[in-house]
Amino acid sequence: MNMSETLGRWRATILDGGRLSLDGGAMFGSVPRVVWERCIQPDQEHRIPMVTRLLLLEDSESDRVVLIDAGIGDKESSEFRDRFAVTLPQGTGEAPLRRAVRNVGVDPDLVTDLILTHLHFDHVGGATVLDSSGQSVALFPAATHWVQQSNWETGLSPNVREKASYLRQNIEPLEATALEKIDGSGEIMPGISVERVDGHTQGMQTVRIEGGGRVMRYLADLAPTWHHLRAAWTMGYDICAITVVEEKQRMLQAALEEQALLVLEHDSVHAITSVEERDGRIVARKP
Ligand SMILES: [Zn+2]
Repeated sequence: MNMSETLGRWRATILDGGRLSLDGGAMFGSVPRVVWERCIQPDQEHRIPMVTRLLLLEDSESDRVVLIDAGIGDKESSEFRDRFAVTLPQGTGEAPLRRAVRNVGVDPDLVTDLILTHLHFDHVGGATVLDSSGQSVALFPAATHWVQQSNWETGLSPNVREKASYLRQNIEPLEATALEKIDGSGEIMPGISVERVDGHTQGMQTVRIEGGGRVMRYLADLAPTWHHLRAAWTMGYDICAITVVEEKQRMLQAALEEQALLVLEHDSVHAITSVEERDGRIVARKP
């Protein structure tokens, strides 16, 4: 069953962009293992199961079909895929991201825009494919690709700490597309705005969709799983934990006020949730 919500002119559909497993300790940062393993059970290699959940937005008032994030894609070696236990969207015969779109009944040729929350490999890898000569090229060469300017710069010259997450072959080919480098927060299409946050990495953007009196927020790595909606639960991967805490507190307050639907990109169980106030604290509803 496809999970779709209507927000005014936009129809938002959740996409299965594939699966991966990442080290539980790295995902939960300073949270002690005895605490986080009660939330998500790790495998024998101490990894926890995750998904790459994408969002497709279809505009009923124009031809616009917008994808948010792209999953991992299939350019990497089998060693790489084994390390992260990668599985790709169902189907054969075309690139994983095209299959993900087709699997919800939409023709991938109709995609006009790709909003990339940031250029870490599990968010952008699917936006490129290897051509017959083994060169990495854009999967949707005619689509407009939206990324924060500061993240673009970080992605092309990453610090040592993040080097393993920013792969050149995922990034450079996008230069040849219609590339919109955004500087900060704001509306980029009617009802769709991005909000820049810098705690997870320099220049990540979350996406806010508003229409018909409803709001949906795509949180990317600001809160990758339901458990990370606790403001203090940051990741080992975050470049600045305190910034993440502040950015998350701001987001949670806004999400409470607007009763936003919150899309969780990496939670293998919960796709969408919302928050409520309990004993003076903002907490995520049990989905
Ligand atoms: Zn990330």
